[in-house]
Amino acid sequence: MKQYDVVVIGAGATGAAIAWQLSHYDLKVALVDRCADASFGVSKANSGIVHGGFHHSADSTLKAKLELEGNEMFDALKSELDFEFDRCGILVVAYSEDELPALQKLYERGVGNKVPGIEMCSRERLFELEPKLSDTAVAGFFVPRGGVIEPYGYVFSLVESAELNGVEFWRNFQAAESVHEGVFRTITAADGRKIQARFTVNAAGLYADEVSRICGGEEFEIKPRKGEEYLLDRTSPGRPSKVIFPVPTPCSKGMLVIPTAGGTTMIGPSATMIGDKTENSTTQAEREIIFEHSQKMIKGISERDLVAAFSGLRPVLPGNEDFFIARSEKAADLIQAAGIQSPGLTASPAIGVYVKNILQKCGLEMKEKNSPRKILPPKNRARELSDEEIDKLHADEKLASRIICRCEFISEAEIVAAVHRGHVTLDGVKFRTRAGMGRCQGGFCAPKIMQIISRESGIPMEQLTKRGPGSELLAGKLGDLEVK
Ligand SMILES: Cc1cc2nc3c(=O)[nH]c(=O)nc-3n(C[C@H](O)[C@H](O)[C@H](O)COP(=O)(O)OP(=O)(O)OC[C@H]3O[C@@H](n4cnc5c(N)ncnc54)[C@H](O)[C@@H]3O)c2cc1C
Repeated sequence: MKQYDVVVIGAGATGAAIAWQLSHYDLKVALVDRCADASFGVSKANSGIVHGGFHHSADSTLKAKLELEGNEMFDALKSELDFEFDRCGILVVAYSEDELPALQKLYERGVGNKVPGIEMCSRERLFELEPKLSDTAVAGFFVPRGGVIEPYGYVFSLVESAELNGVEFWRNFQAAESVHEGVFRTITAADGRKIQARFTVNAAGLYADEVSRICGGEEFEIKPRKGEEYLLDRTSPGRPSKVIFPVPTPCSKGMLVIPTAGGTTMIGPSATMIGDKTENSTTQAEREIIFEHSQKMIKGISERDLVAAFSGLRPVLPGNEDFFIARSEKAADLIQAAGIQSPGLTASPAIGVYVKNILQKCGLEMKEKNSPRKILPPKNRARELSDEEIDKLHADEKLASRIICRCEFISEAEIVAAVHRGHVTLDGVKFRTRAGMGRCQGGFCAPKIMQIISRESGIPMEQLTKRGPGSELLAGKLGDLEVK
């Protein structure tokens, strides 16, 4: 049985950032996830905003404190890990005189939190910053340090870098039971595999309540708050240059218009408490509300540009609404990182540091590694190259100039690199490279991508899945099927 200093349960933004942080130290670390790849939980289905730190008070909530710290860490992370990130800025806009008191209060909270560069704007200034605002905009404020990231690209980069620097990533490992004896906790997966660790970090998102129970930690319940999002084609004339927020409601930041880091436009999310952690449908009723709402905010938004819809579930700790990140009072080797709802993505780099410090206080020795850190190879994205650069690549390496996904302009070399990094499901390759995320949503390129995955990984076509066991893509070969 493999033994580790730390096992992190959950490879979303929270667990990945913790494992990445720990990969700087001389420690044996395992990152486990019940899914076939990282970022297949809440971290794949969100708005991708690096929030600005004005929604909650940093004096009274941990989430606002970590949001502010996390925000500032993204430039350094991007330069080391090379994921899509744009500090495009955030505009919070009031669309009626009635909203002005709430806008002023939010602005003052931002000032109180010392949000860098926060600026109250006149109507003229608002339109100078964002000419696509609807004519009904009355006033607003600007947060230049807000931005957008590609969430799955960010999480994959953290995990790949952590792996390159010694962290072992166990896919399809659903922590199902655990026993603590002596110095070690033994964690048994649903399929019977076992690992042991001196410390366990619970970063299991929607299932952090179950993992806490399995580990003898605090009793709490995570409730999902669903948010539907609608993605518009990259050619949409409704794409703003900044993230546009309305004045928020009591339980959500409101529905937004987002220029995604991937070049598309996203509108949403809604916010509805639900009971089922697997419910991820989208509905016509919400779609109509979200379109109507965003059309009032920005000119040029049209249902004609809709290419995809999805929903994500925020893991909410009812009655608390803050993050719960602490050493468990019931199981001394357990560190809880639960209730990581929005702004969890923004806060995640700071959560990594926060949990590292808790582990240190628990007595885990943190000795920085002597050897220099291994750096991820460049991603060589075809869509970022000029025609001349592609021609040159074509002469040197044919796969780099062979475009497989025409909507998003993704080369075969990018897909091959993703497979070699361990992404062997169709969704894994899609989230790693963007292949299949464009206008045709994989209608043309999916079969080609499957052939490449099969060729490079050795997994037979019939065993390929969309997102892990139970989502097999093919029933079998035509010639092998029994015709009745
Ligand atoms: C609609 C929506 C919009 C959002 N927008 C933003 C935004 O713009 N900006 C922002 O900062 N935040 C945003 N958030 C919040 C953000 O997405 C989350 O805070 C963040 O992704 C949580 O990451 P996590 O790692 O804690 O959870 P997850 O990503 O869910 O990761 C938990 C992982 O644990 C695994 N797991 C669960 N149980 C087990 C087990 N028993 N054994 C092994 N593995 C297990 C799961 O498979 C999963 O991969 C949004 C959320 C939603 C739903």
